[in-house]
Amino acid sequence: MTVTVEHAVPFFAPDLFEADRDVLLDLLYEVGTCPEQKFILGRRTARFEEALRAETNAAEAVACSSGTSALTLILAAMGIGPGDEVIVPAFGCAPLASTVLSSGARPVFADIDPVTLTMDPGHAEALITDRTRALMPAHMFSVMADMPRLRDLADERGLRLIEDSALAQGGSLEGRPAGLWGDAGVHSFVQVKIFGMPGEGGVVLTDDTALGERVRMLRNHGQDGRNRFLHHHIGHNSRFDEVMAAFQLHRMEGLAARTARRTEICSYYSARLSDLVEAGITAPPVGGDGRFPYVYTLLCEDRDGLRAHLAKAGIDAHVYYPRILPEQPAFAPHARPDGHWPRAREAARLNISLPLYPHLTDAQVERVVDDVRAFALRRTR
Ligand SMILES: *Cc1c(COP(=O)(O)O)cnc(C)c1O
Repeated sequence: MTVTVEHAVPFFAPDLFEADRDVLLDLLYEVGTCPEQKFILGRRTARFEEALRAETNAAEAVACSSGTSALTLILAAMGIGPGDEVIVPAFGCAPLASTVLSSGARPVFADIDPVTLTMDPGHAEALITDRTRALMPAHMFSVMADMPRLRDLADERGLRLIEDSALAQGGSLEGRPAGLWGDAGVHSFVQVKIFGMPGEGGVVLTDDTALGERVRMLRNHGQDGRNRFLHHHIGHNSRFDEVMAAFQLHRMEGLAARTARRTEICSYYSARLSDLVEAGITAPPVGGDGRFPYVYTLLCEDRDGLRAHLAKAGIDAHVYYPRILPEQPAFAPHARPDGHWPRAREAARLNISLPLYPHLTDAQVERVVDDVRAFALRRTR
């Protein structure tokens, strides 16, 4: 097969689930024709939750309809609402702000660390008021937030810690898995995530069994699972799909190998791209504890130039996120008017992510680094 230049290295691979297509169709048929006719929250979802518990040793894993919904359920289970403040990073994805606002509480935006691009615990601390109820850091791209410091800060100040590890499945820091540093944490299974699937889904992880039990009720209209139509809480509809549960159980077997391949690609990117700082390109902090291979993100002084250069060579790069949260039209009215987020703004201006998925070939990876290098070295000449 010849690869045309336009499609040499896509950023969003169009064939993520190609190898499992037949399995998916078989499972769809199996669930669809099963006499029990159970399409959500059945025995397959229960087995998937069991597997997720086993993966992290979490006391509770509650599968739900998305990573965003998982955050919403946690906020609700903690009773966070009107009059409360939740400290979130200024640089990150929309759910960090929107879930807090939807709960009725107010997001308070903290600046980020310029190297890890995650919430700066020092700035978060400075923003604590007597209305603050929780800290909600997120792991970004390939680096976990400074959870030891944030855990201490939450404990010292009597705050809840909600860990947005939507994209950090498999990561760990000081031996503790991503998702279990917080009082509760989440993973997302949306397509592009480390354990993505062809649909929507997420999970809440927690060692707090009472909190987990409440999340479990809230995901299905506040019912307790034994008594249908007995509503203990004002709940949500955030249920998990049986076909996807069966598919994820099947795909769990290959997860470690796919993650290892992602890590291998990240290591190669770093080996070839870490010496370009003088040329205005900074690679993410390399390997070791608290790293996970979700997205490989450079900071580039001429980000748009690099993106155009790569596009000409058929390599798609992607910008997550071009704008900081407190400057989004939806969230700006809720941000503190005296807010100041210079490092978040810098990250939004410079970030550019390279393709990263397990079935990238060595030749494609080589091509990406060669083209980034060619751009960098052309600029210094
Ligand atoms: C993807 C993501 C979410 C949202 O997960 P969905 O399943 O898409 O709702 C939340 N936070 C972070 C950091 C994410 O990357």
